[in-house]
Amino acid sequence: MGPGLLRGLLVVVVALGVCRPETPRPAPSSIRALDGDTLALPGGDRVRLVHVDTPERGRGGAEEARAYSQRFVESGLPTLSRGDSRRDRYGRRLADVTVAGRSLSAALVEHGLAWIYPPGTSALREAQCRAVEARLGVHAGLDDLRLGPLVATASRFHRVTCPVIGRRAGARPWSGTAAEQLMRGRAPCRTCLPWPPREVGGGPASLRDRLLGGG
Ligand SMILES: [Zn+2]
Repeated sequence: MGPGLLRGLLVVVVALGVCRPETPRPAPSSIRALDGDTLALPGGDRVRLVHVDTPERGRGGAEEARAYSQRFVESGLPTLSRGDSRRDRYGRRLADVTVAGRSLSAALVEHGLAWIYPPGTSALREAQCRAVEARLGVHAGLDDLRLGPLVATASRFHRVTCPVIGRRAGARPWSGTAAEQLMRGRAPCRTCLPWPPREVGGGPASLRDRLLGGG
């Protein structure tokens, strides 16, 4: 190979390096986080993240989770994984959203902004365990909770007064705490334990302080 050809190749390599287009970013408004676990796509379709729940609007951490999901989808090129034809009863596509191979569901759980929608995955259960242990996000006030005795099934935990669980077979009294239940990968009952309880973190403002304070 002559020096001229070599120089020519170098020029091409350098040019490729310089001219390689940046990862295309969607316009900020192209995907909109309606709340932490629900996204609106440009065509009007909605996506419900699989495996996780985030706080409902008005509860502690709801706005933080929504803002996190919005920043996440704006951080690169979002793609839908598990984007199959499954939909929930509200017509939302059930999928995870990834940016550069990173899962939004996992990121939310890691930051304590979401908890597992059972059964989740083993990776999510480990992430939830770490987030609860570190009392991140909505888990921050778990030690101040006074929920009274809890009842557990395979996937969820309830107040003993829960109208859903009643005396259902398989439910058993549990002397442990909500933190322990969450660390076992169980989720709070959606009827008797809207999550996070008002007691956790003392409300959205206090949680926001903690999240911002903790970076
Ligand atoms: Zn319940």
